[in-house]
Amino acid sequence: MYPMLKPALRRAWRGRNTVQFGVTPAHAVTLGPVDIATGSFLELLDGTRGVPLLYEEARALDLSEHHVDVLLARLAEAGLLDDPRSAGPSADVLRRRVEVMDRQRPDVASLSVVRPEPGGGLRRMGARRAMRVQVRGAGRVGASIASVLSGAGVGQVEVLDGGRAEPWDVAPGGLPPASVGERRDVAARRLVRRSAPGPGPAESAGEPGLSLIVVAPRDGLAVYAPVADTAGPWIASGTPHLYAGVIEATGVVGPLVLPGGTGCAGCLELHRADRDPQWPRMLAQWRSGRRGAVPACDLGLATAVAGLAAAHALAFLDGDLPACTGTRWEAALPLLDWRSEQIGPHADCSCGAAGGAGGERVSGDVLAQDTMAG
Ligand SMILES: [Zn+2]
Repeated sequence: MYPMLKPALRRAWRGRNTVQFGVTPAHAVTLGPVDIATGSFLELLDGTRGVPLLYEEARALDLSEHHVDVLLARLAEAGLLDDPRSAGPSADVLRRRVEVMDRQRPDVASLSVVRPEPGGGLRRMGARRAMRVQVRGAGRVGASIASVLSGAGVGQVEVLDGGRAEPWDVAPGGLPPASVGERRDVAARRLVRRSAPGPGPAESAGEPGLSLIVVAPRDGLAVYAPVADTAGPWIASGTPHLYAGVIEATGVVGPLVLPGGTGCAGCLELHRADRDPQWPRMLAQWRSGRRGAVPACDLGLATAVAGLAAAHALAFLDGDLPACTGTRWEAALPLLDWRSEQIGPHADCSCGAAGGAGGERVSGDVLAQDTMAG
């Protein structure tokens, strides 16, 4: 082990004998009391020294081996130690690919802040490479999400869409101007390859199951009021899916649907109809109406929605349940204050989420666990 204080957390003395690691409340930790010798010793924990050498240098500071052991244990317990060399085989593969690592250094540093265990950041980054995500939609929002997921190290990002790219599909993080007139799916695939930090992972024997579907259609109505039937196969197969898009001047991120566990598109529609009996009638008109005009989509809002949705997706892929789980976040121009609305399970929905934990949808739950394990 080559102990290293997580470089991502800034250090500062808080008063004379307390050290604070980290700036923001989400991850800051204080350690104390720390005397001057121990404070100097902390400077040695930069990942270049093994424990025997640390003992030796501690002796020069009049610190015992026991003191070093206790300190290292406390630092590890507080989630402050990193050790990239202990992150496991897939992380080792990544560490050897210097050009990929250089691209992903900030992402790994961020993961190291979130993951308490030594080497946890690099281990999660290694795991991303084995994951497969499908993005449905290659407009301003969908293509940008796919590009960010690929750039953030997700090994396989598929994009599905039809037709040819229009000038208004172009976005700084999405399809480039040169793709106009080209098939959207082809252009999006190239974008995904170009955004990746390196060549894709070596082909394995079988394609991994889908860890997540991101539903980001060009028509934001299909995000704001998703068609329940479209989600049927994902519910049946237990595939987690996340909605994201822009409708008129409102950006929407969520819900992330865990089939059989959280409210789905069907639940959303049923709740809406409970609150507003005229909703189904209006929805039918909106869905069948001819749409000749280019849909409204503010570029800043689309980019923000894409970025937030991608971050939520990554948090989920990394093993957490982000704030969009069973919840929808919305921001409307021009004030853009993000508001959340819980999308609870509906008792009349066939998805089974309202059945309670461990309900009748045993097979769906098992499938969900399989896909989440990536
Ligand atoms: Zn449902």
